[in-house]
Amino acid sequence: MAERIDGEGRSRSILIAGAGPVGLTAALELARRGFAPRIVDAGAGPIPLEESRALGVNARTLTLLSPSGVAGRIVAAAQPIERFRARSGERILVQLDTRNVKGRFSAIRALSQGATERLLIEVLAAHGIAPEWRTAVVAETIADVHKPEVVLRRGDGTMETVLPDILIGADGAHSVVRKALGAGFPGEALEAFFYLADFRYSGPVDTHYGEVSIFDPGLIARLPVSADTIRYISTLEDFESRIVHLAAVAEKTWASQFRIHFRHVEPMARGNVFLAGDAAHIHSPAGARGMNLGIEDACWLAWLIAEGREQEYSGLRIPAVKQVLKQTYGLTRLVTMRNPLAIAARNLFAPLLLRFGPARRTLLRSVAGYDTPRPPWIDWAE
Ligand SMILES: Cc1cc2nc3c(=O)[nH]c(=O)nc-3n(C[C@H](O)[C@H](O)[C@H](O)COP(=O)(O)OP(=O)(O)OC[C@H]3O[C@@H](n4cnc5c(N)ncnc54)[C@H](O)[C@@H]3O)c2cc1C
Repeated sequence: MAERIDGEGRSRSILIAGAGPVGLTAALELARRGFAPRIVDAGAGPIPLEESRALGVNARTLTLLSPSGVAGRIVAAAQPIERFRARSGERILVQLDTRNVKGRFSAIRALSQGATERLLIEVLAAHGIAPEWRTAVVAETIADVHKPEVVLRRGDGTMETVLPDILIGADGAHSVVRKALGAGFPGEALEAFFYLADFRYSGPVDTHYGEVSIFDPGLIARLPVSADTIRYISTLEDFESRIVHLAAVAEKTWASQFRIHFRHVEPMARGNVFLAGDAAHIHSPAGARGMNLGIEDACWLAWLIAEGREQEYSGLRIPAVKQVLKQTYGLTRLVTMRNPLAIAARNLFAPLLLRFGPARRTLLRSVAGYDTPRPPWIDWAE
């Protein structure tokens, strides 16, 4: 691990566990500030392109990834989502134009997580850094959080012990680093499963809008993945039979099912060990905040490390994490409610409320990710 002097005049070596979008962003944001972090990942490479996973890239993420040059590449590759609507039967409850948000970027666009990861890897390579694949952090406990000792196990079975000044755990929801810190991951899991399928079409389809169809109970959301592929995500196990395909299906490119958890770790750091992304917080995909919030963690942490202020990380990030968890929880409950009276009240009041400009602007700002503190190191208005 090469070292760099931080804002306090200290030389720091940095190890990042996990080369998902969050670990890669941390590596890149550190690299562009002159650090040479080492980044290791237990997997064989970035996730397959057809596994769209974290699809929504919001405006705040594009702001954060602008200085590194990744934002421009994402904008060039991503599918614009110009409109978004929620409907109950034929009744449109909410309709939003995602371009009606102030700043350089529209509120949200779509790019498959595998493509985002590859763009980050490409730009990171220009800084001379490549993730070390098939290299897992194995740690049962971290005895000294101020000078963490970490064992790495490579795919060929060889082991290596490293002693970084800073360890960043960006190793996902089942984080080994978080467990080795002995930190809990309190929260709750929703009873319902969510089901997902991506369909590629052979004929032209309108892929410029997102839509949630509420069936009371249950929903099917539709989001573009690319110019010819649409994702459907639902609480209904038989949702595929309810999809009205507007063109001939060429193939189902990916399908998955998952249970939703709302959990976060507090604090997000101990000594010189820091947790970011899914290692620190998980929540429902409603609002498409998961990867975006993790990328935000990574950018703040890199900036604070360069400033020699990394001990402020947890205190600065926890309020943002709590706010996003609360908001995605509310949104998820709103679209999965089963009580007929509550459903009737939602269907009556949500459209009324969203007729007002301030309510629409608040909703759009949160889709854009502008409801968390602005990055102080970026000097242009978002
Ligand atoms: C079906 C689905 C749909 C989603 N949709 C969205 C969406 O639309 N928008 C959104 O923002 N988010 C979405 N998410 C969430 C999003 O995928 C995650 O929030 C995001 O991947 C988190 O990134 P991360 O880098 O923190 O973790 P991960 O992407 O999980 O990356 C962690 C990395 O750590 C590696 N690793 C694990 N253990 C070790 C170890 N011991 N040593 C070294 N490396 C290790 C793993 O191999 C992995 O590469 C979705 C998730 C799913 C499953």
